[in-house]
Amino acid sequence: MLKQAIGWLKFFKGSTPEKSSNAKVIGSGNITMRVLNRKPPMLDKILAANMFPKLESTIYTYGDTIYNPSGQPIPDHLIAHEARHFKQQGNDPGAWWDKYLADKEFRFNQEAEAYATQYRFVCESVKDRNIRFRILHYLAGILAGPTYGNITTRVKAMEIIKQKSNI
Ligand SMILES: [Zn+2]
Repeated sequence: MLKQAIGWLKFFKGSTPEKSSNAKVIGSGNITMRVLNRKPPMLDKILAANMFPKLESTIYTYGDTIYNPSGQPIPDHLIAHEARHFKQQGNDPGAWWDKYLADKEFRFNQEAEAYATQYRFVCESVKDRNIRFRILHYLAGILAGPTYGNITTRVKAMEIIKQKSNI
């Protein structure tokens, strides 16, 4: 799950949003996920957890499906992030979401893995060290921020993402 508007990453290839609410199949590496331009099924629980006020700019993964209520284009690096959540959820996405919303530490660790996957994906197309650093800095700011409970500092979050991404 993550917010859409990402300044430094907006230049990456995006998938065209659907005009209708029909499913769309898109790929990221060897993972294929479906995108539905509608609210996620666990939205009530997310709202009850009081986590994400900007629902219109956030996407959510439940199993193999990305819910994209705003219908914005979803760049491939975001699909890489969500594909990691798909893997994490295994065959019980409902239980994963319950734990994700209830357990701040679990949520942080799951997100750290997802941001690391996203960063690794970005690094496959970006060779410039300065741009990589700015992207890492940006992603770490989100991971360390209020969206995920202010668990750590940005500097520490940068170390965690880098370490988990094996870059
Ligand atoms: Zn996420």
